[in-house]
Amino acid sequence: MAVPKIWRKIPEYYNLIGRRCSDCQEFYFPGREVCVKCGSSNLNEQKFLGKGKIVTYTIIRTPFTDPEGEITEVSCRRIPYALAIIQLDEGPMLTAEIVDCSFEDIEIGKKVEVVFRKILEKGEKGVIQYGYKFKIVR
Ligand SMILES: [Zn+2]
Repeated sequence: MAVPKIWRKIPEYYNLIGRRCSDCQEFYFPGREVCVKCGSSNLNEQKFLGKGKIVTYTIIRTPFTDPEGEITEVSCRRIPYALAIIQLDEGPMLTAEIVDCSFEDIEIGKKVEVVFRKILEKGEKGVIQYGYKFKIVR
């Protein structure tokens, strides 16, 4: 019996996959086709360990809206939430929500690690999308 496509793709959703330049060893997340540092197109898939630190953060208290004032899909999370710029131990920076703590626990420089959570759920059929978020390492 064939395994449904959504289940076969889960390993990708549950891993932080980017690229690493084979020539100068620079890391990229998300992955790129050409290395910005050396111009090489010799980049290989790279799985990141998912550990890093908070570079800066903000607390989002107002939902994003489209020009008609409708709350957009990406903002369909519980308000307020903490959004941080995180530098992975390998070097690349990304933006992600910080979860599983109170806002008072969040500080610049604190160590974080990736967790995979539901990002959004839409429609009556309940299409659920998963993605990465980060939690503070205690
Ligand atoms: Zn390079």
